[in-house]
Amino acid sequence: MDAERLKILTESAKYDVSCSSSGSARANKKGGLGNASVGGICHSFTPDGRCISLLKILLTNKCIYNCLYCPNRAEADVPRAEATPDEICELVMAFYRRNYIEGLFLSSAVAKNPDYTMERLVVTAEKLRKEYRFNGYIHLKGIPYADPLLLTRAAKTADRMSYNVELPSAKSLKLLAPQKTRESLLLPMKQLAQQKSEYAAEHKGKGKFLPAGQTTQMIVGASPEADGQILRLSQAMYRKFSLKRVYYSSYVPVVRHSLLPDTCTGLLREHRLYQADWLIRFYGFTAEEIAGEGENLPQEYDPKCAWALKNLQFFPVEINTAPLEMLLRVPGIGTLGAYKIMKARKFGTLRFEDLARMRVVLKRAKHFITCGGKFYGSENVSAVRNLLALEEHDSSSEQLSMFSTLDTSASALTGQL
Ligand code: SF4
Repeated sequence: MDAERLKILTESAKYDVSCSSSGSARANKKGGLGNASVGGICHSFTPDGRCISLLKILLTNKCIYNCLYCPNRAEADVPRAEATPDEICELVMAFYRRNYIEGLFLSSAVAKNPDYTMERLVVTAEKLRKEYRFNGYIHLKGIPYADPLLLTRAAKTADRMSYNVELPSAKSLKLLAPQKTRESLLLPMKQLAQQKSEYAAEHKGKGKFLPAGQTTQMIVGASPEADGQILRLSQAMYRKFSLKRVYYSSYVPVVRHSLLPDTCTGLLREHRLYQADWLIRFYGFTAEEIAGEGENLPQEYDPKCAWALKNLQFFPVEINTAPLEMLLRVPGIGTLGAYKIMKARKFGTLRFEDLARMRVVLKRAKHFITCGGKFYGSENVSAVRNLLALEEHDSSSEQLSMFSTLDTSASALTGQL
């Protein structure tokens, strides 16, 4: 494939974050090693936690649809390109052999019609597996309205699939992506979730059907829905379709249109949504507890601190006796810390000093716990609010250290809150 087409097809894929990270551009400096590129290679995480590099590319950016926010929409005046399945396969194999990548994230604009596009995605993945004998990771994008049989073929070949839900309500979808409907995005997710669980039951856990599951992406801030509504949708998708991950993409006005905001949403909102998402998946919170349907998450502190400050009647909790569910609700005690506390207290009474060794962020947790009956925090609620906001501000302006205690700035990545 020539360099010009490669550039168009990799750069056109950069706005999709449902496979994880991308979008950073930085040239190598003298004496340095490596460039960051806006398109081309991105990273994803395997179920055992390894970070892998993926070639992130579109089969084509020629689209028959007109999603208003998308630079590849039919009406846009941008350079267009397409690749054949064999060209993608050869690229993957060449990059893999050179050790540039460990897998492929393959997406596409909707060319000609949904079945034509989905079939080309499936054929590419099947060729890679059967003809090129590629055994690495493949993430395929699902095309709305494609034939269910094509989805089944895709899921038997790919490791992961994603249908992007795009916008948080059917109303916004109708307004900003008029050719897509909520059903055209949710029904395929439902089909894949059902087939995956039927396959697991039939094969008693052996064999593979979409082993890395499904993810989705939602654009935040292009439409008026509040965080509370967004979190309710994510919660419903986690419950109904066993999604591995919902990715939140803060809106950036790449396209100017009277129905779209002309300012960026900002990364803080996206960061808070990721923190709230962790609370739903790993801390036993419901979306309803975290934010009212029409409410946005507070900016001053993370959603766990916000919940604790609103529910002070449950605190302080005694570290030596509190059930796991309550330890997980203490600001500054992450999942790792909670499990360490549960394990350690079987062997003796824990002291306040012991907690620092258990990855507990004491400057936050001390206002919500007792240790052996002793309270080390402040009883002045407005002082606690100010301290938490100050601590959040300080830690988010520090650079992350690989070896420091986990802090607020890392929490959206690690889930420790
Ligand atoms: S379907 Fe919509 S979001 Fe996807 S490439 Fe076409 S216009 Fe863009």
